Amino acid sequence: MAIAENLVSIKSTLPKQVTLVAVSKTKPVSDLMQAYEAGQRIFGENKIQEMAEKYQEMPKDILWHMIGHVQTNKVKFMAPFVHLIHGVDSLKLLQEIDKQAKKNNRIIDCLLQIHIAEEETKFGLNQEELIALVSSSLFEEMKNIQIIGVMGMATFTDDKDQVKKEFSHLKNIFENLQRINPKNSQLNTISMGMSGDYQMAIDSGSTMVRIGSSIFGERN
Ligand SMILES: *Cc1c(COP(=O)(O)O)cnc(C)c1O
Repeated sequence: MAIAENLVSIKSTLPKQVTLVAVSKTKPVSDLMQAYEAGQRIFGENKIQEMAEKYQEMPKDILWHMIGHVQTNKVKFMAPFVHLIHGVDSLKLLQEIDKQAKKNNRIIDCLLQIHIAEEETKFGLNQEELIALVSSSLFEEMKNIQIIGVMGMATFTDDKDQVKKEFSHLKNIFENLQRINPKNSQLNTISMGMSGDYQMAIDSGSTMVRIGSSIFGERN
């Protein structure tokens, strides 16, 4: 029952405007069900196939978030049911999501992933690429996607000032995007903060935290 306890204690520390995504990647359905029975309805996965299998097996009132890097050719497997895609970082990917959403008669909510970390390896757009994307006519033509905000991952470091700086940067980018007020958008979400840094992320304006190991335990 540690999972339920972890969940309840984390939830009690979150301000009410902050949404908790329980990151359940690699964990078995039995673990997810413990969180479900403790009231959790939003789960985050980083592999489309794994998410689709869990979707099949689990109660249908769960909201499934794709938090990982998305390959264009796999979008079709989640388009019927995914609730929010966090890692959108190209026009090409957005066009595929739009196309698959249309086939399913849906409008799919997306977050644009922004590169805020120092590491080269992390995915995401920079500010100029973001503005170019949302200003392009191809973007404006899409009818089956909606941008509801931004997502970012800070550098994996003990340097708190560094992490704080990166989170503030993401908040700034979100506010700039709000000022631009692009088509196909309803901006209300800043997805930032994981087990190790979510408190700092909330202090920096996060509205959605993605927490895995602090709920479900370490992954192998
Ligand atoms: C795995 C993952 C998380 C959760 O990480 P924890 O440190 O286990 O909380 C959050 N966001 C993304 C994008 C992830 O891939």
